[in-house]
Amino acid sequence: MSKSFDAIVLGVGSMGAPACYYLASRGYTVLGLEQFDIPHDQGSHAGQSRIIRKAYFEHSDYVPLLERAYANWKSFEQLTGSQLYFPTGLLYAGTSDGLLLKGVKESAARFNIPLESISAIKDRFHQFNLPDSYEVMFEPDAGFLTPERAIVTYAEQALVAGAELHTKEPVLEWKPEGSGIQVKTNRGVYTSQSLVITAGPWASNFIPALAPKLKVTRQVIGWVNPKQRAPFQLGNFPCWMVDDSQPGMYYGFPVLPVGKFGGPIGLKVAHHYPGTPVNPDQVNRNVSTAEEELLVNAIKRILPQGYGSTHTLKTCLYTNTPDENFIIDYLPGYDNRVAIAAGFSGHGFKFSSAVGEVLADLAMGKTINLPIGFLGINRFMTSH
Ligand SMILES: Cc1cc2nc3c(=O)[nH]c(=O)nc-3n(C[C@H](O)[C@H](O)[C@H](O)COP(=O)(O)OP(=O)(O)OC[C@H]3O[C@@H](n4cnc5c(N)ncnc54)[C@H](O)[C@@H]3O)c2cc1C
Repeated sequence: MSKSFDAIVLGVGSMGAPACYYLASRGYTVLGLEQFDIPHDQGSHAGQSRIIRKAYFEHSDYVPLLERAYANWKSFEQLTGSQLYFPTGLLYAGTSDGLLLKGVKESAARFNIPLESISAIKDRFHQFNLPDSYEVMFEPDAGFLTPERAIVTYAEQALVAGAELHTKEPVLEWKPEGSGIQVKTNRGVYTSQSLVITAGPWASNFIPALAPKLKVTRQVIGWVNPKQRAPFQLGNFPCWMVDDSQPGMYYGFPVLPVGKFGGPIGLKVAHHYPGTPVNPDQVNRNVSTAEEELLVNAIKRILPQGYGSTHTLKTCLYTNTPDENFIIDYLPGYDNRVAIAAGFSGHGFKFSSAVGEVLADLAMGKTINLPIGFLGINRFMTSH
C-alpha cells in the first residue's frame, strides 16, 4: 500500500526546502523527495553566496515579493538563530540609460527604496576602476544570502515540524490518481492531495509541455586571491554589479572568512548571462582556460587590485524562461492539485523564503496575497 500525504514536494533545493518547511509548520503532512543530498552541487544552489537586493532592475513588479522575502528571511533567522542574510550594501555601475541602472532607479522610485548616488567613487570605494561616464548607485539594504546554509536550515526546520524528507530518492514519474496525485520513485509509490514541483533544472522532465520553453544553461563562477586581501574582505567591501559586458553583466561578493562560511577561499566573481545550453544530467564540470580568462579579465578591469591568482572555478545551472521571469502557478489541467515553481532564470534564490510560502498556499488551496499574476504559466502554455 502506498503511503499518503497532504503534499509531496518534488525536489528539495532552493524552493522545495522552504516549501516543505511552510507546509509542515502549518500542520500538513508533507513528503519532500530529493534525488541527491540536501544541499548538493549538481543543480542551481551551490556556491556559498547569492545576492539579495530590492531595487530590482529586472522589473519593479518583483518588489512586493522581495519585501515579503526580506521579512521571511528575518523571521526565519529569528526562529532558528542562524544568520542567513548578510547586509553588505550593493554597488551598481553602468551607463545611466543601460538596463541595470535604468531598472534599479525605476524600482527604487516606484517603491521608495533607499538608493544613494555615488559621485566620487574613489573616495568611498577605492577598490573599483570604472569609466568616468558610468553612473554609480549604492543600495544600502542589499547584501548576500548563504544558499546551502539556508536550504539545510529550512530542511531541518521542516523535519522538526514533522515533515518526512527522503534524500537520494529520485522521482521517476507522477500522475493524477482519484482526487489526488501518485508519485513513483526508485524506492516506492506515494500518494498525496497535492504535488509541488520544484525540480529546478530538471523541471521539464516532469512538465514536458514546458520543455521547449525552459533552457538550462551552464554558468561559471570563480574565486580568486586578490593582490591585497584586506580591502576586499567582508566588512570592507560590498557586493557589486557592473553593467559593462555585452551581453550580460559581471557581479561579485566580498572575501568571506572561511571559519564562518566554509570554502571556497577568495573573492567571488561571475557573469550574469545565460551560458551554454546543457542537459542537467550531462554537465561538463571542467572550466576551460578561455572561460577562466573571461572572468579574470573582468576582475582585472573592474577591480585592479582584485586579481593575484585563480583559486577555484566551478559550474552551476540556470533554468531560463524565454522572458527570464519565473513561473509560479498551478499546472493547468489538474484542478489546482499541482503547483509549480520553475524557470528562475539565474535570479531566484533571494525569493525562496517567499516562494516557499506561496507554494504552501497554492498546494493547500489558500488565497495568495502576493501579486504573482505576472509569473503565470499561461505565458508559455495553455494546457498540459
Ligand atoms: C552561478 C549562479 C549564480 C546565481 N546567483 C544568484 C544571485 O546572486 N541571487 C539570486 O537570487 N539568485 C541567483 N542564482 C539563481 C538561484 O540560485 C536559482 O534561481 C535557484 O537556486 C533555483 O532554485 P530551484 O529550486 O529552482 O533549483 P534547485 O535549487 O537546483 O533545486 C531543484 C531540486 O530539485 C531536485 N530534483 C530534480 N529532479 C528531481 C527528481 N527527479 N527527484 C527528486 N529531486 C529532484 C534537484 O536535485 C534539486 O535539489 C544564481 C544561480 C547560479 C547558477
